[in-house]
Amino acid sequence: MQDAEVIIIGSGPAGVQAATVLIAAGRSVMMIDGGKKAPALPQAPDANFEDVRRNNQDQARWFLGDDLSGIPVSGLTGGLGGGQVSGNRANVVSGAREQLPITEENCQIIQSLAEGGLGAAWGAACAVPEESELTAMGLNAKDMQRHFDAVINDIGVSGPQIRGGIQPALPPDLHASLALETYKKKQVSFEKKHISVMQPLSAILTQDNDDRRASNLADMEYWSDPRRSVYRPQYTLEKLRSSHSFTYKGDLIVERIVSDTEGCTVHARRMSGGTESYRAKRVILAAGAVGSARIALQSVGLYDTPLPFAAKPHVFSACMHPATLGKTGPKSRSSLCQLLILDDNVLSGVRSGCAQLYSYRSLMLFRLLGSQPLAYPEAMKILSMLTPSLVIADIRFPAFGDNGSVSLVRTKDGDSLRITCRVPDAERDARKHSWQRLKQGLRMLGMLPLRNMELPEGSASHYGGTLPMQGTNRILTTDARGKLRGLEHVSVADASVFPMLPAVPHTLTLMANARRIAEAVTEDL
Ligand SMILES: Cc1cc2nc3c(=O)[nH]c(=O)nc-3n(C[C@H](O)[C@H](O)[C@H](O)COP(=O)(O)OP(=O)(O)OC[C@H]3O[C@@H](n4cnc5c(N)ncnc54)[C@H](O)[C@@H]3O)c2cc1C
Repeated sequence: MQDAEVIIIGSGPAGVQAATVLIAAGRSVMMIDGGKKAPALPQAPDANFEDVRRNNQDQARWFLGDDLSGIPVSGLTGGLGGGQVSGNRANVVSGAREQLPITEENCQIIQSLAEGGLGAAWGAACAVPEESELTAMGLNAKDMQRHFDAVINDIGVSGPQIRGGIQPALPPDLHASLALETYKKKQVSFEKKHISVMQPLSAILTQDNDDRRASNLADMEYWSDPRRSVYRPQYTLEKLRSSHSFTYKGDLIVERIVSDTEGCTVHARRMSGGTESYRAKRVILAAGAVGSARIALQSVGLYDTPLPFAAKPHVFSACMHPATLGKTGPKSRSSLCQLLILDDNVLSGVRSGCAQLYSYRSLMLFRLLGSQPLAYPEAMKILSMLTPSLVIADIRFPAFGDNGSVSLVRTKDGDSLRITCRVPDAERDARKHSWQRLKQGLRMLGMLPLRNMELPEGSASHYGGTLPMQGTNRILTTDARGKLRGLEHVSVADASVFPMLPAVPHTLTLMANARRIAEAVTEDL
């Protein structure tokens, strides 16, 4: 007796896209998920950030959360404390450390048990990687075209018109528009250095789409979703729930999958107590690169055997943009990524680095207090004068699966995942060179890097490579259609299958690939 034709584990960007394809193909799907929900707060006012800050008596509810966890009491800890996954978005990481134990060596890992996964807090920066990057990720660029088109159409992506279906770009903010002007004037010099500058693709609507409305440039994207302009996987989940062929089971931690000739049994533990088992012909793992690796290792009982792990490295450069000193820029704007600066110099066949540029305004001054030398309240006054001219460059580099490992280990408290990042000197050097080139690019755009921060490995929350699509027959690798070797009837739809991650944001590719894998499962069924 089966509960559904296909069980999908995880409701993040990968899980909901895979489910959408299967439901559209008339298949019955059960989704098993951690399912932590955001607090049931009244929706934030549909007003501009400045007006909410000046006039709204309840503003702490949106900016710090009812539990005040947006206050970084023990420091920002790479975004975990007081960052994007705190306050009203704290559900994104809540319970994950306790329920999914990890031992981190030389890295800092974020896991999610939320409805929507890490996508419930993501910054919506998107990219379609170059053909060489898709090849390095194990993908065929031609095959991927229609899956990119489908996902762009489904989630709503705006930005430069590099392909059909993309909505018009958001207007660039003051920093980005000045930088783009400078880039146009100096394009030949940039080309000589193999640096290019462009507006990013973003999963934010600039035109209404169903019940989701175009951004009104209120600059509240990091704090609330009043118009649902920024895509979140929960919106897809809502649509899936209205299908009679779809069942959602939350509050569950999947521990093990047992395969037999007919299909699979998925064994899960309820976080509120008890165990449950469900049966399907096929299972799709979409629990994130770390979560899917854990379930696969536990299912085959493979201890102390490292799987590869790619964690995208990143560094921050805080830059002063003197051309904007004394100018606050328009009140209507977005806080999302404004520009991509690409280091087109090639490293192992892919672009060497990518800086994502952000203005600081809506990220809150108090977060900067700890990183400047003056005492409060003087510091606050100076910061409020300087921040309109502050630009944060979040610089990312490609991640390769052989720079890290994930293994299942027995500890005195039970099973745990040991996650290790070890970066060879040659790659550290390559990153440094790319960082230097991108800093030079920033200076050419008129931005002066003032303070640079090397962040812990893994803290960019971009993971992959644990169950890679590889030509080998090694256990717990996947074939080109995402089928997992060593565990019959199981496919993998998240970034676990990519042997490497490019420097540009990869979640759009992960969603497009999840659709491809779900299509392969439908064909097999
Ligand atoms: C603050 C932040 C900003 C980001 N910004 C960007 C961005 O701008 N651009 C970009 O490309 N990427 C961004 N990312 C990364 C992006 O969110 C991830 O790449 C993406 O969410 C991964 O999708 P996924 O579906 O594979 O896994 P996840 O989103 O991690 O979802 C995993 C799902 O699996 C479930 N799960 C896990 N383990 C189990 C288990 N044992 N049993 C049952 N369920 C389980 C969880 O409940 C969850 O629903 C950002 C991430 C963060 C945290």
